[in-house]
Amino acid sequence: MKKIIYWFRNDLRLHDQIILKRIENQKEVVLLPIFCFDERWFAKHTLGFPKTGSIRAKFLIETVNNLKTNLQKIGSDLLVTFGKTEEVLFEVAKRFNANEIYAEKEDTSEEIFVEEALKKRLSIPVHFHESKTLLKTEQLPFSISNLPDIFTHFRKKVEPILDTVQPIEEVEKLPPFPDEFRNEHSFSLQDFGLNEAVFDSRAVMHFTGGECEGLKRLNKFIWQDKSILHYKETRNQLIGENYSSKFSPWLANGSLSARRVFSEIKKFEKEVEANESTYWLVFELLWRDYFRFVAKKYGNKIFLKGGIKNKSLSYNNDFEVFEKWRTGKTGNDFVDANMTELMKTGFMSNRGRQNVASYLCKDLKIDWRWGASWFESQLIDYDVASNWGNWMYIAGVGNDPREARYFNVNKQAAMYDQDTSYRKLWLDSLAKP
Ligand SMILES: Cc1cc2nc3c(=O)[nH]c(=O)nc-3n(C[C@H](O)[C@H](O)[C@H](O)COP(=O)(O)OP(=O)(O)OC[C@H]3O[C@@H](n4cnc5c(N)ncnc54)[C@H](O)[C@@H]3O)c2cc1C
Repeated sequence: MKKIIYWFRNDLRLHDQIILKRIENQKEVVLLPIFCFDERWFAKHTLGFPKTGSIRAKFLIETVNNLKTNLQKIGSDLLVTFGKTEEVLFEVAKRFNANEIYAEKEDTSEEIFVEEALKKRLSIPVHFHESKTLLKTEQLPFSISNLPDIFTHFRKKVEPILDTVQPIEEVEKLPPFPDEFRNEHSFSLQDFGLNEAVFDSRAVMHFTGGECEGLKRLNKFIWQDKSILHYKETRNQLIGENYSSKFSPWLANGSLSARRVFSEIKKFEKEVEANESTYWLVFELLWRDYFRFVAKKYGNKIFLKGGIKNKSLSYNNDFEVFEKWRTGKTGNDFVDANMTELMKTGFMSNRGRQNVASYLCKDLKIDWRWGASWFESQLIDYDVASNWGNWMYIAGVGNDPREARYFNVNKQAAMYDQDTSYRKLWLDSLAKP
């Protein structure tokens, strides 16, 4: 009997799972799927807030619970643990007498540290595979070190090979789960030292974690509401469920696969209609791929003040000013409305993110990394590469070919929140006359 551990990371789903699909019909295999809430994810940042805040943590707990249920439905289960991942996995592998471990590959320092620490401890093979992006690194028509530093150049080179993108079919049956590891314990926010996350009815939508909800959202945005047909015109709006896809929270923890989203868009284009908007959603997914490859190419540089451009920048870094930005009390209505939305719901539109980020580093002269860290704590769609890549871009130390891009937040508010309804929605001081 071969004993295999599948370590779930940011691929919390059963669709588009290459390894699980391969194991699906194997006889003589016992499979132990495991997920570990790493205690370091909940540590306090030096700026005083948890690295993972309540709303994101709640979304992740829901995601893991849904994965466990779905695994149980196909004859397996999920061992859910808490601690330092490499230590937990080492102990479990020893107890289980595992022959090998499979997991999704990550590309950034904290995650690589865990991979390396695990490999050092174990004497069994640990196999990693890529599962986040539309295209795998090996499919790119250039090596990672030759990844273009300008998105458009990247896009033009990869668009011709996008027709190779194909998700793997859903797993329908898995080998038996070892009974001695069955455990029905479900973690709560209190286990991670976090406060309750209260739902705010002003939120763009009610985000619930898990593959089932992710696939539901995919179906609703594309097929049911057909909002994809107008995406290019609506994507800069600020209020409501359908101005943009809202796929990002599920994409970020892998409960929705980007390849599945892509194939659904292609199917829709074939069966219903292809237009500029349907194209534009793929265009945005390519940004997501791009930032992942940038993180891979540049390693820790994406976390440095000077970014991948190695620029020398100086900031004032006034902590009180930062706190006002963080809590939506800068005095600028547009910035404050967006920051309030983020704090209360864990989400903010792309237009909002660009504005508050620019305001922090260009107007308030505060280190962009403080802002990126707050986003990391709050965003339910936090993705290390997309977050730090976008922040670098806005701060002028990333992949923006234009030097010194600046968002005039007042002009932007007048353009994108002409009737002030967005600001009125989020700021009590404006809501009542
Ligand atoms: C400062 C800043 C920080 C950001 N941090 C994150 C983050 O942590 N996680 C994250 O997923 N996105 C991040 N973004 C990108 C973007 O704002 C969100 O992906 C988008 O708003 C999510 O909403 P949606 O799913 O409705 O997007 P849609 O507009 O419907 O786009 C579809 C998908 O394309 C991808 N996408 C769209 N725009 C971008 C972009 N600029 N960069 C990378 N991928 C993109 C996302 O996966 C998104 O779900 C950030 C942007 C800025 C300016």
